[in-house]
Amino acid sequence: MKNPALTNRRLRDLPGIDKLLQQPQWASIKDQIPYPILLEAAQTIVEECRIRILNAAEPSHSLPDLDTIANQAVQLARRLNAPNLRPVINATGTLLHTNLGRAPLADAALTAVADVARSYSNLELDLDSGARGNRFSHVDKLICQLTGAEAATVVNNNAGAVMLSLAALAFGKEAIVSRGELVEIGGSFRIPEVMAASGVTLREVGSTNKTHLEDYTSAICAETGLLLKVHTSNYRIVGFSEAVSGVRLAELGREENLPVMEDLGSGMLFDMTPYGLPREPTVAETIAAGLDIVTFSGDKLLGGPQTGIIAGRKEAVERIRKHPMARALRCDKMTLAALEATLRLYLDPVRAKSAIPLLRMLSVTAAETKNRCTQIAAQLRAALDDQMECHIVEEPSTVGGGALPLSELAGYAVAITPGAISVDQLCARLRSGPLPVISRIQAKSLRLNPRTVRPDEEPLLIAAVTAAFADI
Ligand SMILES: *Cc1c(COP(=O)(O)O)cnc(C)c1O
Repeated sequence: MKNPALTNRRLRDLPGIDKLLQQPQWASIKDQIPYPILLEAAQTIVEECRIRILNAAEPSHSLPDLDTIANQAVQLARRLNAPNLRPVINATGTLLHTNLGRAPLADAALTAVADVARSYSNLELDLDSGARGNRFSHVDKLICQLTGAEAATVVNNNAGAVMLSLAALAFGKEAIVSRGELVEIGGSFRIPEVMAASGVTLREVGSTNKTHLEDYTSAICAETGLLLKVHTSNYRIVGFSEAVSGVRLAELGREENLPVMEDLGSGMLFDMTPYGLPREPTVAETIAAGLDIVTFSGDKLLGGPQTGIIAGRKEAVERIRKHPMARALRCDKMTLAALEATLRLYLDPVRAKSAIPLLRMLSVTAAETKNRCTQIAAQLRAALDDQMECHIVEEPSTVGGGALPLSELAGYAVAITPGAISVDQLCARLRSGPLPVISRIQAKSLRLNPRTVRPDEEPLLIAAVTAAFADI
């Protein structure tokens, strides 16, 4: 039974915000946390109490004492004061997660970002002549060196690179694309829509599974402005299928005097078959095939910052650079610093493989993941023996990020079955800790895959899992 008089009395007993903020619990954080956050925390907790009183069937049981309220408010203030965007431990084993920020950067890239961001820089100043420089000069020669392209430029991401290139090369005209390559990357990046937004008319040719050279040839007309190839990054058409190679399309483009462009998606600078990945043309091979423009992401398999790299023939790159939209898509000095440092690592492939986190994680062998699982499982058992069961299971990793959908990297994971809470609850607790751990659930157990966990994160992972089992 509700008792309105009692409810009102309980509401009157709630501490005022000023009184709550004067409690001794705040002393330790008052100097570190801005006042608006302290105030928000105090108001939120008091409001929660008020709602609980109003909703309680039995008002007498509903109000915690002032000490408890103050403790809750202080905890909330700490949480509100933590950055919104912060590091997480990726224990999914998936190397490229767009939700988790794609590729972690190499130390050299981090240092370059900090150095350039802390000071002024020669972003657009030619230090030799003292004249105005070009911000892309810091990376374009490196891109040419690594890909064999005549010229290159960079924008904020590959979606931007595709849009800008289409607009610059074929605005108001038709671009011919195979029906087997009308890719959707996720969100609203679909080739037909990107074309429409760039002012280019899509001319589909061939069928879903087969497109022949004649399909392109017979579609070419006075309105044709471009031949476009799109890498089917996140799906494969297998079986009775056929596509026209970049080499053939480039030949056709030269015969017809039409530019030919390929959106490579996740461009690879070197052959990844030693990692157990399928043979895909590298950027250099695509350029050598004679395409006028190729575009690819900086933060997929390249392992660098979010960028869209545009490389190819000088004249086509110049047109792209001079397009008015280029200014709207230009990347900032921190991105350029990170990209330059990452590309410099690639000049020495051996060094790249050990210094670029993505390449390092790709090269981890199944046996190494098993060893790391053994160590993690032993520590978890020592800390949480009676609260969970854990064992080591085979679990292949995928590259993710819409790259190489069919390939898997062999490896192992730790599978945890909690005793007193559900697997879903454990997964949620791991996500909500001060250092969130992102894990997967498979076959009713929680999986921790060490491939994407840096060795120096391992003690933090153990601590986070242990903490997730506290006060159950
Ligand atoms: C990933 C991808 C894109 C989009 O690249 P972003 O860097 O995410 O903007 C475009 N095309 C293809 C084929 C891709 O794989």
